[in-house]
Amino acid sequence: MIKKAALTALAIILLLGVLAPVPLRAAGGLTVLTTSAVKDFPASITFKITAESDAAITDVRLNYVVERMEHARITSEVYVGVEPTTSVATQWVWDMRKTGGLPPGSSVAYWWTVSDASGKKVKTALARVQIEDNRYDWVGITEGKVTLYWYRGNEFFIKELMTATRAALDRLSENTGAELESPVRIYIYASAQDLRGSMIYPQDWTGGVAFTRYSIIALGIAPNLNDLAWGKRVIAHELTHLVIHQVTFNPYGELPTWLDEGLAMVAEGPLESTFVTALYKARTDGQLISVRSLASPFSAYADESILAYAQSQQVVKYLIDEYGREKMLKLLMTFHQGSGYDQALKTVYGFDMDGLDAQWRASFKGGLVQ
Ligand SMILES: [Zn+2]
Repeated sequence: MIKKAALTALAIILLLGVLAPVPLRAAGGLTVLTTSAVKDFPASITFKITAESDAAITDVRLNYVVERMEHARITSEVYVGVEPTTSVATQWVWDMRKTGGLPPGSSVAYWWTVSDASGKKVKTALARVQIEDNRYDWVGITEGKVTLYWYRGNEFFIKELMTATRAALDRLSENTGAELESPVRIYIYASAQDLRGSMIYPQDWTGGVAFTRYSIIALGIAPNLNDLAWGKRVIAHELTHLVIHQVTFNPYGELPTWLDEGLAMVAEGPLESTFVTALYKARTDGQLISVRSLASPFSAYADESILAYAQSQQVVKYLIDEYGREKMLKLLMTFHQGSGYDQALKTVYGFDMDGLDAQWRASFKGGLVQ
């Protein structure tokens, strides 16, 4: 008898499993029958629900949380309008064209709350939508905290990219002591065009994006040697942004742009000739940008922005070469506590951004920091 009862219980559990989600019944018969989320990447997610009750269902709400680094948990609530009736089948479409999209590899947690006219209320268990770009058959390879996903190219291609990833993390750790705190996903699209297909309103020139709050990077790198060389640099650059973001994340302020971009440029390896030329030309023409100006977002004009990146690389390299890794790590930790730009520099190095500017210009008279 006992055995049979146990088997029956098992059968019921299995049956409930098949009919997931398990209907939630409040006393008196308010029941959520089904819930689901249908993805149409990257445009939308449609959340669906069916429910019934003895009394008219008057209130249906969807709550969702985008799972990413936040200073405080942000829950969105959507009231889904329903005609009061005892049986409800409704849906809400999250139109990403209005809100901006979510990257592949991200996820959204959600639950429903349903109330009826007799005052009964049911809240469903937390469910999760995993955002994926199902246009391609992704293959993943993981090393340490980094996973690379790709769908075109051979073993050599992906190994080269993984090696560049490891080298970038090693270089960053050597230069600053900063290391990845949580896992990173890197999506390698086979072209910039494929990458743009994953984005809402992409810009024409988009070849790579770092979603720092999600610890996700998406890049368009074709499996040929030209793109590979570029891809290795971009991975090193964007990965550095993610690490630095994880290490310094705080609700009070951002990093000065010269520090954020300078560290990312240093991680790429030696400066490319375009940047070197821009530096010497600006020095000759008396057009070098002040470190204070470089703390703000860079110019959108190509020439100015090349110089801004080049100078940031040099200023950061100067700080590392002259004052060492421990101080750079201390500087990042000071920013993590929400310090202002000048204050952080003064605390760690004893000079502010103008002092840094003067020191770096004097050093540049003798040539580049290699
Ligand atoms: Zn950057």
